[in-house]
Formats: sequence, C-alpha cells, structure tokens
Amino acid sequence: MSWRSKIHDTAASMLNGWGRERHRGELRVLMFHGLTDKVHKGLENCQHKHLHVERFEALVNHLSVHYDVLSMDELVEKLENGRKLPPFPAVLTFDDGFASNYHLAYPVLRSYGLPATIYLETEFVDEKLPIWVDRVDFAMQYSTSARRELISFKEKLKTLPQAEILAAVEKLEAEMGHSLGRVDREGVPAIYQSLDWAQVREMSASGLVFFGSHTHSHVILGRAAPAVIRNELLESRRRIERETGRPCLHFCYPNGAAGDFSDTSEQILRECGFRSSLTTLGGLNTLPASPFLLRRLGMTNDLRTAQVVQYLAIGDASIRGLVSA
Ligand SMILES: [Zn+2]
Repeated sequence: MSWRSKIHDTAASMLNGWGRERHRGELRVLMFHGLTDKVHKGLENCQHKHLHVERFEALVNHLSVHYDVLSMDELVEKLENGRKLPPFPAVLTFDDGFASNYHLAYPVLRSYGLPATIYLETEFVDEKLPIWVDRVDFAMQYSTSARRELISFKEKLKTLPQAEILAAVEKLEAEMGHSLGRVDREGVPAIYQSLDWAQVREMSASGLVFFGSHTHSHVILGRAAPAVIRNELLESRRRIERETGRPCLHFCYPNGAAGDFSDTSEQILRECGFRSSLTTLGGLNTLPASPFLLRRLGMTNDLRTAQVVQYLAIGDASIRGLVSA
C-alpha cells in the first residue's frame, strides 16, 4: 500500500469514527434489494439496486464490529415503550423478495449471526412474475435507450395508476419483443428471480430472518383508494403468515418517497394491526422516532465500501462522490 493510500485510509477511518460518535444514539435503517455475484453490463442493474456480495460481506463485517444490529421486533418494542436503544443501533432490511436474498445474503447473515427483515411483494413470490420496474429494465435492454431515458420512463410510470402502469409495460414489452413475463422460470436472469416459499420458510425457521409485507402486488399506496390499500396489506400478510406460521407486523412502502404514503395509509396500517412502516426517505432517524415513518440508507452497488462506511457514519447522501477512488 502506498503512503498516499495509508494517509487516505487513516483520514477516512478518523472521519468515520468522528461521524459515528457525533451521531451516537441515532438509528440507521439500511435498505437493500437483491445481491449479485456478477459484473453487469449495459442497462442490467444500471440503477445499482443489486449489491455485489463481496461489498455486502465487507459491510456486514463492518456492522458487526461498529454497530448494534437489532431485529425490527426488538427495535419497535423499544420505540413503542420509550426504552433506551444501544449506542449505535442499526437494522438491516431487504425490499421485494429477490432469490439472491437466500442464495447470497442469507449465508453471510448466518455466518455473522445478524438479524434482517425481508419485505415481500407476495405476488412476486407466488407467481414468479418480476416486478414491473424489472420488466422495464429487461425489455429496454433490447432498445437503443440510454440509462437516462430508462430512469425517466420509469419515473413517469410511477405517477400513473397501477392498471395504466401495467398496460404501458406490456406495450413496451410488445414493442421490444422481449418480456420477462414470457420467459420460463429457468430463463429469467438470476438478478430478477424471486424467492420461493420453501426458501422463505427455511429462513424464517432459522430465527434470524423475519418477513414483513411490501404489499401483494407492489401498488404505490400514496394515491391508492382505501379499499385497495386494505386489500394489499391484508392479502400479503395472510400469505406470509400462512407460509411462515409467524405474525407479520412490519410493512415497507413500495417506492416509499414523499407522496407514496399518506396519513390514510398510516391509519389503515394501524387499523390492520401493523406496528411499523419504512419509507425510502434518506438519512438517519433521530430518536424518539415514529415507527411508522422510518428513514433508510439505500445501499447501492455504485458506492464503494469506503463510501458506504462513511454514509453509514453520517447518513448524508452527499457523501456519494466525496471519497476519491
Ligand atoms: Zn419494492
């Protein structure tokens, strides 16, 4: 290692220690989606939501040394009762229910003994039909579109009602002549595959991995009618409880940005007996915090381990790009 790298590493580690100490007592909720063990090209994983397993393992190792990792049950029990949290509380969460959670994340979690919660879109597990955002990624690989166009197309779709989104995705798939919905299970690229219920049951029985609801069909709840919200919550919870034999008490909002949840959705969650909900608003949670509006730190594959460690310490997304290569 060169002297320049040594100085850089020492400065980074001092900055991390200082940042972590400055934010002592604040809660870090980490958000993952899938993991990958490949280097992807073109538009595949171009928004970096599937984290390379080596980066994941480095991060889990760092968390096991520097943070107090809790399960959602432990966290919510403390938040509800005003109990003191450990000095550096952190929670690990995974959205959607990708098969890589079982193949790549679970072995790492087991070897470090750290708990995590996976939020299932239960239709994805039931029917193996990838989520519409992944169907768009897959179909657009066969177009001349650039990453920018792909992202703006998806952002535009997110403003539409669910039926119109699905119609637009089918139209795109027909135009491209490629549809994840028409590929048999074996032919679906690994990063788009869902968990199956046997994998869910095995992880649940380990007592290390917990399952929450992420709706039944990934409906964005902010603009959905109350009856639709209730149905999405109850159907996904029914499926999860039937398969795992454990209560499903935690929820995570699809998309999860401002406008994707509302006072109405929180009220319905409470009426249905859920005890927490997660957003994708970024940053650390200062305490006391409502268990129904928790912020998260998105762990994406464009961040190198040094950047993730700093992001975790200070919770400021502007850290992206602050660390030199
Ligand atoms: Zn999702």
